Amino acid sequence: MKYEYLHPRDELVLTMKRIYQYKMTTTSGGNLSILDENGDMWITPSGVDKGTLTPKDIICVRADGTIDGPHRPSSEYPFHKAIYAARRDLKAIVHAHPMALVAFSIAHQVPETRLFPQAWRSNGTVGFAPYGVPGSEDLGAKIAQKYAEGFDSVILENHGVCCGALTLQKAFQRFETLEMCCKVLIKAHTLDEPTYLTDQQLQLHGKSGSHIDAFEYDPSMMSIREKALRNQLCAFIERGYRQRLLTTTMGTFSARIDEEKFLITPYPLDRHSVLPEDLVMIRKGKAEFGKRASRAVFAHQAIYDAHPKVMAIVNACPINTMAFSVCGRSVDTYTIPESYVFVRKVGLLPFETVYNDFERLTKTLTVDSPAAVLCNNGAMVVADSVLSAFDKLEVLECSAEAVLDAQPIGGHVAMSQEIIDELIDAFDLHPSEPDSGDKTS
Ligand SMILES: [Zn+2]
Repeated sequence: MKYEYLHPRDELVLTMKRIYQYKMTTTSGGNLSILDENGDMWITPSGVDKGTLTPKDIICVRADGTIDGPHRPSSEYPFHKAIYAARRDLKAIVHAHPMALVAFSIAHQVPETRLFPQAWRSNGTVGFAPYGVPGSEDLGAKIAQKYAEGFDSVILENHGVCCGALTLQKAFQRFETLEMCCKVLIKAHTLDEPTYLTDQQLQLHGKSGSHIDAFEYDPSMMSIREKALRNQLCAFIERGYRQRLLTTTMGTFSARIDEEKFLITPYPLDRHSVLPEDLVMIRKGKAEFGKRASRAVFAHQAIYDAHPKVMAIVNACPINTMAFSVCGRSVDTYTIPESYVFVRKVGLLPFETVYNDFERLTKTLTVDSPAAVLCNNGAMVVADSVLSAFDKLEVLECSAEAVLDAQPIGGHVAMSQEIIDELIDAFDLHPSEPDSGDKTS
């Protein structure tokens, strides 16, 4: 679904649904608005259950002050109005009280978004507005002041957060990415002191995947395998989003069609609603004409070139694995048999590897060592099928969560090398013979 084609009533309802479904608001908290080209503000109503909101419930506050709709506008209408008055470039606002952002709000702190590239790119430096009574003109003035200073995302003291943007989609992405950034920071602090990206590292990410030649794609030549893979990838991307393994702006999935071709997620893309025709085919290093491949395309290409047995690759950013990633630590899989059997020993790669060190990347990730933590950049998993790549990613994230959850109760006790050797024999996990085409053999 393309949100830009929706009427504000529908866009507001669908976005609120997403926020509520993913537990980023309660039924009473949070409000969204869109300012249209006539200066009319479409805003969520006051006192209506967020779980059952419909397009008819949305209120329109006209530029002349008249109100259309069956309810009162949100009680926070004054601060929405004040923000739009302070910043003519903003046309949509998301406000809610998601738990991790509230934790920062009540700790009177702002998150450092240089934690991973998307957090920095979507939010930049985050502002902090002093406390004001909810619904008051005073609160509106305090928040608007921070927007006037140039912040796009502002933490509200002992309250919540506000994210503004040119579109509601963009404001939602800021909000979702910032909440995730806070969750990762909170988890990471139970492990170690997180590290933050330098300007140079952020630039490296910004420049990645910038140019790839194109070829004229003819959909009438599509094979059954390609059709099946396009649909399968979409189903797993949607599932990955639902399971919070991917976010709106983070996560790349690809699958090999044959020796010359693979499919990969496009850039940019809302992972919540990917269609088979959105995926980009890469053939002999060239992309389908008119589409832009994910920034990770060259790293995926290098892995497919080096390892003919790899049929699917996923980059993702699940919160617990991310906590290890920002502390520069690998995830211990000597925890339960499932973890070691599916994920084996997890590699640890410097941030730069996926951009400029494909030799190291392809040596670390093989079908026999399928997972790696990328410092400040999530995780990468390879496998012999889309299902297996997804499964390994889930197991990796579960292992990371279990290790973190064991911290407050005394820390985990790793299985001995003897037990691991026994598992290697029992599940026949001895390294496979490289096949004839394996370029690393
Ligand atoms: Zn609020």
